[in-house]
Amino acid sequence: MRKKVSIIIPVYNETTNINVVATAVENVMNTLPYDYNIIFVNDGSTDLTVQYIKKLCSKDSHINYISFSRNFGHQNALKAGFDMSSADAVISMDGDMQHPPEMLPELLRLWELGNDVVYTIRKDHQELPMVKRKTSDMFYRILNRLSSIELEKGTADFRLLDKKVVDVLREIKEYDLFWRGLVKWLGFRQISVEYEPGVRVAGKSKYTYKMMMEFALKGITSFSTKPLIIAIYLGFISAFLSFLYIPYAMVSYYSGHAISGWASVIVTIAFFGGIQLMILGIIGMYLGKLFMQSKQRPHYIISETDIT
Ligand code: UDP
Ligand code: MG
Repeated sequence: MRKKVSIIIPVYNETTNINVVATAVENVMNTLPYDYNIIFVNDGSTDLTVQYIKKLCSKDSHINYISFSRNFGHQNALKAGFDMSSADAVISMDGDMQHPPEMLPELLRLWELGNDVVYTIRKDHQELPMVKRKTSDMFYRILNRLSSIELEKGTADFRLLDKKVVDVLREIKEYDLFWRGLVKWLGFRQISVEYEPGVRVAGKSKYTYKMMMEFALKGITSFSTKPLIIAIYLGFISAFLSFLYIPYAMVSYYSGHAISGWASVIVTIAFFGGIQLMILGIIGMYLGKLFMQSKQRPHYIISETDIT
């Protein structure tokens, strides 16, 4: 019996990329001794993406789809793919050709050698905008410093997972999903391979800087409570500084210079006000996570699928 491999491709408004990606993946997979299917997860696209996928499905038995009722985000789209797949190995990749299908044989080879997780690391690409590279480096440095997991910079959502890993992932009920961290955290036999990112064939990146910032904050707060501890230290430091300020205020008062202290009072209020707001923000972020988690809403809602 041939082993079965599922390739999960989340797509959000990728109309013109659907055919290109499907053909490229099939050309590679047809040379390999596996039964496979490609699962397109349509993440609430507002263009013709879903029509294109359905058209492909109707004439190609290798293609399946899951379609969401609205946009739920890339990480939730991946979850839907994991939840719905029953294959021996599941590979996730982007729908814009930035994750080269030529890497598939290598991922599968390493899996056959007994690895449960084969994850990929993006080689630093000169074509990527400088700001994107630098902010991404900074994110991984902060995350590694603050949390107990160690993520290599450039870790991508392009990876192969063995069935037993997917079975475990399915049980994870965390609201804010950050797969690259979660997968690393799981353990199992993991191995990494580097890849040269392709250029996006068409359309533009769905991740704006604002979204990347939110993604980074989610990632950090999912794997570490150290920001809360930093908040406590900041509180201590500012309390200490303010105690130092008391003798100065007393001396000014008794020497009759009290009124001249206006500027320093304003500066101090602004400084401590800032610190307090920042700390409140950090606490609020964790509270918000708790709030969202407590509602136990589903990660996604499927409006249509051909997987039974
Ligand atoms: N994507 C998605 N839902 C979203 C945003 C993106 O399913 O809300 C998909 C997108 O169609 C693509 C993949 O996730 O297949 C990666 O997104 P993108 O290429 O925009 O990100 P980048 O490569 O710039 O990090
Ligand atoms: Mg991309």
